[in-house]
This record gives sequence, C-alpha cells and structure tokens, in this order.
Amino acid sequence: MREGDGAEQSRPGKVSGIPEEDSSPVGGVLPGLKVLVYHKVALGTPDKDYLWAVSQSRLRQHLRFLMRSGYSTVTLRNVSDFLDGRAELPPKPVLITFDDGFGETGEIILSTFNEFGSKATVFVLGAFEPPEWERVREFKREEMMDREQIRKLHSAGFEIGSHSMTHSDLRSLPNDEVRKEMSDSKRALENLLQDEIISFAYPYGAVNETIERLASETGYRYGCGVYSGPPKFGTDIYDIRRIPVTLGTTSRHLAIKMTMPYEYYAWLRFKIGRTLGR
Ligand SMILES: [Zn+2]
Repeated sequence: MREGDGAEQSRPGKVSGIPEEDSSPVGGVLPGLKVLVYHKVALGTPDKDYLWAVSQSRLRQHLRFLMRSGYSTVTLRNVSDFLDGRAELPPKPVLITFDDGFGETGEIILSTFNEFGSKATVFVLGAFEPPEWERVREFKREEMMDREQIRKLHSAGFEIGSHSMTHSDLRSLPNDEVRKEMSDSKRALENLLQDEIISFAYPYGAVNETIERLASETGYRYGCGVYSGPPKFGTDIYDIRRIPVTLGTTSRHLAIKMTMPYEYYAWLRFKIGRTLGR
C-alpha cells in the first residue's frame, strides 16, 4: 500500500523542529519522523545473549538523551490526529514503540516514561498470554502483561496497538487466518480499553503486500514492520520502518541513529540483501 492510498487527503500543519524543506508534509509524509522499536526492558542487566532486551538504566539514558536533544515523544495516534488536521505535533517528534508486551516491561516503562513526561506506543497480544515462540527461544519463559497492566498504560496516555493474537509469522498463514489474527486482537483490545485500536505491529516484522492490505481491510490505520518499509515516514503507512533498539544500543549509538539518515542506510542494506537473495 503506497503513498496516495488511504486517509491522507487532509491538510496537515507544519512541524517545527523538522528541517524547513521537510516541514510541510504532503500526502501524509513526515520525512524527519523516526520510529524506534524496543522489545523487553529488564530491571537488572539483561543476559548478554538476549539481543532484544535493554536495561531500565539504559532506557533512562536513551530518554535523557532524547529530551536533552529537544525531542518530544509522540504516539501513532498523535500522528494520526496531526495528519487528520485535528492536532499539532510537538517540536522534534520521535515515535517510540514497544513490541510483545512483556509483563515486567510494562511496569518499567510506565515508571521510566513518567519520569520524563514521555509516552510510547505499546503493541500487545490480543490473547493476553505467552505465545509459542517458534523463532525467539529466549522469550519462552516470559510473562506477558495482564489486562490490568495494559489498562494502566492506556490510562497513563500510552497508545496500545495490536501485535496479533498468537505472534505467528503472518506470511505463513492463509488469508482468513491472518484476518482473524488482526480482527480478534483488535476486538479484544477494544473491548478491554473501550477505545479504538488503530495500529498493528507485524510479528517478527514479517509483512508483504497482501498482509498490508488485510491490515487495512480489518480497520487498522497503521501497520508497523521493522526492516522492509521505505525510509521516509508515511510513504507506506502499512509498512512503517522502525529503527531497532537492542542490547548493544548505547546512548551514543542512539545519537547516531537519530542524527544520521540511519533508516536510509538500513533500507539500502535491505534492498541489496534482497537483490542478492539473502
Ligand atoms: Zn513481537
């Protein structure tokens, strides 16, 4: 689903903090907006083999760096309201997302983001229980957020998005099952929160054009991938590219990812990898 599709007809405002030539988004494109993706946050030092985890103190350093650099956190809902012409975005917006919804992570991000007056978009499973992790073995023993934790995050201003029901690679499922993963999780979360769920994060970042279309058809307004989407935010709102924040991402690494055109580099690497059949 490419630029020009969907709800991009409104006349959005100007974003301060994004270079002048990029500051008037046309067709819902926000070239300067970066999207980060975290997974697990641990109270202590995460296991060194645990690529997708950061410690709470590392997360705090990241947020401190972002705040000192003048960034303000926004959610996909904020972006949606902005693109619909209903709200402004703060100067230098950055979109922070969390995938999976691990139990301990929920408590940690609630308190850590509160320290900085920040917020994030958190993608959780509509089944509210640990899935069969077929590819990420070290996640097996993790508790997931329960309904109460998800409610707490939501009422604290975090956006809750869906990460499917069972965390399956959607590319391996027939279309009607993909549709069910999307609709059932949307309904379960909407029933829980009495609020519309507008965003979906594809498990494992695994997405193709059919899956993007199904996300749109089942009522989502945004779909988040990781590796495959175009570098410019809004060019494909059903495959939003995100910058992974992992165990090795220090504040200095984050600074590089925030100030350099990292997503263009990652996009190029993805394209070359695909051309070479990797
Ligand atoms: Zn996931």
